[in-house]
Amino acid sequence: SSFRHLPQFDNRWLRALPADPVADNVPRPVTGASYSWVAPRRASKPTLVAYAREVADTLGFLPEDCDSQAFAEVFAGNALLPGMEPHSTVYGGHQFGHWAGQLGDGRAINLGEVLNEAGEHWTLQLKGAGRTPYSRGADGLAVLRSSVREFLCSEAMHHLGVPTTRALSLVLTGDKVERDMFYDGNVQWEPGAVVCRVAPSFTRFGHFQLHAARGEHELLQQLLDVTIQTDFPHLGAPGRDTYLRWLEEVAVRTAEMVAHWMRVGFVHGVMNTDNLSVLGLTIDYGPYGWLEGYDPDWTPNTTDAQGRRYRFGAQPQVALWNLAQLANAIHPLIGEVEPLQAVLDVYREEYQRCWQRDMTAKLGLSRWEDGDSVLVSELQQVLQSAEIDMTIFFRRLADFHPDGETPGEEADSAQLLEPVLEAYYQPPTFEAEHTMAEWLRRYRDRLIQDRVLHGTEDAQRRALMNRTNPKYVLRNYMAQQAIDRAEAGDFSEIHRLQELLRRPYDEQPENAAYFARRPEWARRKAGCSMLSCSS
Ligand code: AMP
Ligand code: MG
Ligand code: MG
Repeated sequence: SSFRHLPQFDNRWLRALPADPVADNVPRPVTGASYSWVAPRRASKPTLVAYAREVADTLGFLPEDCDSQAFAEVFAGNALLPGMEPHSTVYGGHQFGHWAGQLGDGRAINLGEVLNEAGEHWTLQLKGAGRTPYSRGADGLAVLRSSVREFLCSEAMHHLGVPTTRALSLVLTGDKVERDMFYDGNVQWEPGAVVCRVAPSFTRFGHFQLHAARGEHELLQQLLDVTIQTDFPHLGAPGRDTYLRWLEEVAVRTAEMVAHWMRVGFVHGVMNTDNLSVLGLTIDYGPYGWLEGYDPDWTPNTTDAQGRRYRFGAQPQVALWNLAQLANAIHPLIGEVEPLQAVLDVYREEYQRCWQRDMTAKLGLSRWEDGDSVLVSELQQVLQSAEIDMTIFFRRLADFHPDGETPGEEADSAQLLEPVLEAYYQPPTFEAEHTMAEWLRRYRDRLIQDRVLHGTEDAQRRALMNRTNPKYVLRNYMAQQAIDRAEAGDFSEIHRLQELLRRPYDEQPENAAYFARRPEWARRKAGCSMLSCSS
């Protein structure tokens, strides 16, 4: 190998679980096994588009190795490093509320677990490296468009402080992939790409559900035991009580993850149970989107446009529903319903706690007081009184000054709105302006109270707000611009966004052009607002 430094592999997961005895990539139902051995498809001309240096560093790859053609070959699926053992895992899931049976993983191939110098295990997974036994009718491939979106967004989420899978690399395969982007019979050939995802594990709710649904209770227990031993070793030896503590930890982590989504305005778009990680990591970046105008009913997913099951405001509730399915899946190992139900209450409480914590910080308050739930729910109403950009509003709210008024004189509404005016997509109507001004007056009073009670300095408040409310997020049109250029062979916008989104809370005045409302042309342009499920 031409690598100057090679990571070590320690593939615990596949050692501990039974393999499908048939080793080929032909799509079929696979029972009695946790995974199948597969061979990644050969890419005709791998080209590295981008890699994440922090992830490479965590895994032990040297920068010069990442820049080599050998690296592109490995992470397109053309070559294996010593210790890599490619396999795909089998799982099922509820899609849009309906049990769908065995459905994944049709285009993810695990290469193995890196054991790094810090003693951490990191699983490497290629997405888009060809068919597996679980591909059903599909090709196992991914297009550049969706791969850029996954690569940039998963790394952006990490830097925002949101639990997520990471992305090591983005490689063009040199092959074309056939896609019907709008499901309208209009087939196009798009450049193919492979992302190498990285996470402690990629175990999903749906892994447990599939074994449970098939009555494979021994496999179910084996999977849970190895999950506890590898991903949750602090919970102690596997057993009934540990299983319950495990479920509780999954619930707590899921609550934490969803609260972060709500904090930054992220809409996952396909919260099927097969797309939820038991580690509480954001996983499967498909038709996700970022709220621009604040609208709890918004979903970026065209496949879900009718039911809006996965709209922004529904995410905490959907996560709970998904947890109930996971609880149901491990019921055979518990034998009782009540303790499982108690875990769902833990989720509710934990979500509430996280949400209050985050809203306190978003508003720059030193602590949550009794009346604050009213202040916050009023704000949610006010934010819908016009089209108001969520990211810009919260970021600019830090510039709102509680002492803006001359004593004895009421500031007029226009004055009060000044700091947040930039967040409005159209100039506010008189009524909308009045509604916001009323809220800002209540907010101002609350800030003054906070200062009187707790001595919170204005600079302190602003600092807290500016490390909670990001300045830069991966707006859909930004990703689309990077994609359009990449499809024309220019990767510079991907690299620019990668740098920008490494420091989303920093002012970065040189990048202020990215702190802007979505431009009008992007409102309806394909890819800039709505997307469909798998591509
Ligand atoms: P998703 O709704 O994107 O999470 O997709 C659900 C499942 O469909 C995934 O777990 C994959 O196994 C499978 N899948 C999606 N796209 C493809 C594809 N192009 N080829 C094969 N399988 C796919
Ligand atoms: Mg998926
Ligand atoms: Mg997907």
